[in-house]
Amino acid sequence: MECDKCGRDAVHHAAYSGAHLCGDHLCASVERRVRRRVREDSLLPDDATPEDPERWVIGLSGGKDSVVLTQILAETFEQDRRVEIVALSIHEGIEGYRDESLTASERLTDDLDVVHETVGYAEEFGVRMDDVVEDDPENMAPCAYCGVFRRDLLEAYAEKHDADKLLTGHNLDDEAQTALMNVFEGDVRQMAKHFDASLGPFPERNPTDRFVPRAKPLRDVPEKEVALYAHVRDLPAHITECPHASEAYRGEIRDLLLEFEERHPGVRHSIMSGYEELAALAAERHRGEDSETDEALSPCVECGSTTANEVCRKCSLLASLEAA
Ligand code: SF4
Repeated sequence: MECDKCGRDAVHHAAYSGAHLCGDHLCASVERRVRRRVREDSLLPDDATPEDPERWVIGLSGGKDSVVLTQILAETFEQDRRVEIVALSIHEGIEGYRDESLTASERLTDDLDVVHETVGYAEEFGVRMDDVVEDDPENMAPCAYCGVFRRDLLEAYAEKHDADKLLTGHNLDDEAQTALMNVFEGDVRQMAKHFDASLGPFPERNPTDRFVPRAKPLRDVPEKEVALYAHVRDLPAHITECPHASEAYRGEIRDLLLEFEERHPGVRHSIMSGYEELAALAAERHRGEDSETDEALSPCVECGSTTANEVCRKCSLLASLEAA
């Protein structure tokens, strides 16, 4: 199998496009798609300047997706001082899992000369995920606690760094899975939220906005190509799966999608293009309700973060853990 571009040995056949690509041309193609997404989602506003740069906080777990995203964006804007990048890693307190990925994150950010900060559940909340799993006062899956704590820290530290955008490394497979889960669950409001929260183009941030806008510049790239990119470029990505991973439903959807993609190449891309249109319509339909909801938001009486209730979800989970 030869590369369509240069005739060297191909490392990848993208059945959805018919392309055979060598390592170098695969990497160039991945980088092109990320840069196109940055442009099409208007991530970099026209008025950003080296004196008043745009600041992006990237959630860096040390896994392949966030490592590849950080590498591509750091290289893209290496000479362009209109963008400042801060990498933020979160230590959940999972024995034998997160330490190695944090070492990978430190190596990457040292190599790229990117500012890197690590924050942990233990220091911030006085809990470790290993203990949460053992106590489990709410009788929930580990990821349900972990997701709430992670979202809270990402938001808080994006605010602390005065970020204009919060970037995450979700790839095409992640996004197509989420789209399908929302459709299967008939969750139109979640679609609307997804559209408003993370699909560009992004309007300029208003100082009164309550949340830092989120963006996913890797969302056009299939998971396998992200993994190959990390491998070809020998990036320090950590591959091991979390021992508490428990999103069984997502796992079923992932298997279903992979099977479908093999039989009908391109299905992930078509799901996403249809879903984005649907999500835009859902966002339009629920926009009035959203602003009412937004007005109902207020600071949590415990920690001050924005919530629709008196006490935010993170604080109520912490209270039940303390009582356990
Ligand atoms: Fe947390 Fe679940 Fe991810 Fe493990 S798999 S780090 S428990 S969200």
